[in-house]
Amino acid sequence: LAADPKAGAAVKAADRAHVFHSWSAQELIDPLAVAGAEGSYFWDYEGNRYLDFTSGLVFTNIGYQHPAVVAAIQEQAGRLSTFAPAFAVDVRSEAARLIAERTPGDLDKIFFTNGGAEAVENAVRMARLHTGRPKVLSAYRSYHGSTSTAINLTGDPRRWASDSGNAGVVRFWAPFLYRSPFYATTEAEECARALEHLEATIAFEGPATIAAIVLETIPGTAGIMTPPPGYLAGVRELCDRHGILLVLDEVMAGFGRTGAWFAADHFDVVPDLLTFAKGVNSGYVPLGGVAISAAVADTFATRPYPGGLTYSGHPLACAAAVATLRVMAEEKIVEHAAYIGETVLGPGLRELADRHPSVGEVRGTGVFWALDLVRDRETREPLVPYNATGEANAPMAAFAAACKKGGLWPFVNMNRTHVVPPCNVTEAEAKEGLTILDAALSVADEHVV
Ligand code: PLP
Repeated sequence: LAADPKAGAAVKAADRAHVFHSWSAQELIDPLAVAGAEGSYFWDYEGNRYLDFTSGLVFTNIGYQHPAVVAAIQEQAGRLSTFAPAFAVDVRSEAARLIAERTPGDLDKIFFTNGGAEAVENAVRMARLHTGRPKVLSAYRSYHGSTSTAINLTGDPRRWASDSGNAGVVRFWAPFLYRSPFYATTEAEECARALEHLEATIAFEGPATIAAIVLETIPGTAGIMTPPPGYLAGVRELCDRHGILLVLDEVMAGFGRTGAWFAADHFDVVPDLLTFAKGVNSGYVPLGGVAISAAVADTFATRPYPGGLTYSGHPLACAAAVATLRVMAEEKIVEHAAYIGETVLGPGLRELADRHPSVGEVRGTGVFWALDLVRDRETREPLVPYNATGEANAPMAAFAAACKKGGLWPFVNMNRTHVVPPCNVTEAEAKEGLTILDAALSVADEHVV
């Protein structure tokens, strides 16, 4: 890698002068200047290379700069770089066909958006209009995006500053045995009690006021908690009983991350609406959308759908999606994600947990794993308090710094690190990452009581 610190300093200076960053106190951040990226790696201007165990924000499911997808975007730019959404455009039609072919059940109509939050906004709008009901239920441990309804549906503390309290959102506890809100001791108990709690929530809110239940099939940013067997089927049954729509948010879990095209495939549950973004084209060009059931689509057969976006189904984004979905099929990337989870990441992370007392729990599937870091394995006290900042968050900051020093860019959220490399991470890369994590976890171990 050719180092060019002067160029890096210029990039950083212009960033600091003019770029206003997400979720940040603008003067307290120090963004790394990135010089390039390929496959599972990116590098800076100082000559440092990092193994990206974050896939960006969990979206580069085929890694950086896949040549077939880059070529497809270039080809589309030369042919027809943009076109308004009201027309039938070849790549848009083909992207919708390929997505509908993969989504479960009768989710055969695709409304395109620019990203995940807009997908959630539109899914909720569709559910409200389809049912004629105002309320939406969502889980406390969730993230659904940062626009108005999506941030109100979100459970994590990023909601607090934007919580209007009147968005028609009611939050409930979804199952999570390791930190059970139900005092359960087995997955079966957790499942039964979580369903009883949801049933009671519906009864007391008034079933006829609830348009939809919105759930991440496997919650991502909130901690990668695979629901216990039977939970999602139970939620589906409650929805059916009360005429409530089930919206599964697969913005993070979809398109290969869990070792299946969609996380819903693991549970044999078909939602009424499914939201997607990120992995649909690995984020090479912004794209998201809602996959819509026949019944919901029928609501808007002769009545106009009151929603739209200038760039809905943008040709560059759709060309990237078509190429990505082809590459994923040809290179068997979804099968590979399942294989890496079963043979390298799962066993490797459990082995790290055996040796490092700071690891409280390992959970996940495919290339979608979380390590829940603790001060005390017995009490499960998190390594840092919920939503800690500054000094209180120092143990996690030290862990992240140790990862970076070792050449691995980690995903860190509260007391967790998520292991979320691209779906086509090689066995050697995955093992390299485990070795770096091993060293960094020794730093976390120092804070165990
Ligand atoms: N839903 C889920 C499950 C997500 O993980 C995210 C983003 O991380 C979103 C929605 C929001 O997507 P976007 O940032 O593209 O608006």
